[in-house]
Amino acid sequence: MRPSGRFSFMSTEYRGSCLCGAVHWEIRGPIARTSRCWCTMCQKQHGAAYAPYANAARADFVITQGEDALAHYASSPGVDRSFCKVCGSNIGWTTTEAADRIAVAMGTFDTPYEGLVTRDLHLDTKPAWIP
Ligand SMILES: [Zn+2]
Ligand SMILES: [Zn+2]
Repeated sequence: MRPSGRFSFMSTEYRGSCLCGAVHWEIRGPIARTSRCWCTMCQKQHGAAYAPYANAARADFVITQGEDALAHYASSPGVDRSFCKVCGSNIGWTTTEAADRIAVAMGTFDTPYEGLVTRDLHLDTKPAWIP
């Protein structure tokens, strides 16, 4: 659904969804930076070598569909990882240390992101099977 009315100039900049389509989100603002996290927790949660994230203002991130399909897991104190409880897609994570930000899983983007990943985190646990 497209925004309309007097605030229509504030167009949605990014949209995304989970694998099954139950959860849809929008980032209604800029992405400040992107990263690849190679920590072992992100590896487990994504089932992958690293997790790519786009960092946005939490106030700009809106679940537009499927809020009730979101499950949450606190992998560390203050850290909330959200995922679709139907299909398991990772949606993003937040931390109380930076409560005004959210890291959104870039694999769930439906709209293109033209930038490059700007930094790597926890490269010390990068698996040996990645060249
Ligand atoms: Zn899903
Ligand atoms: Zn991580």
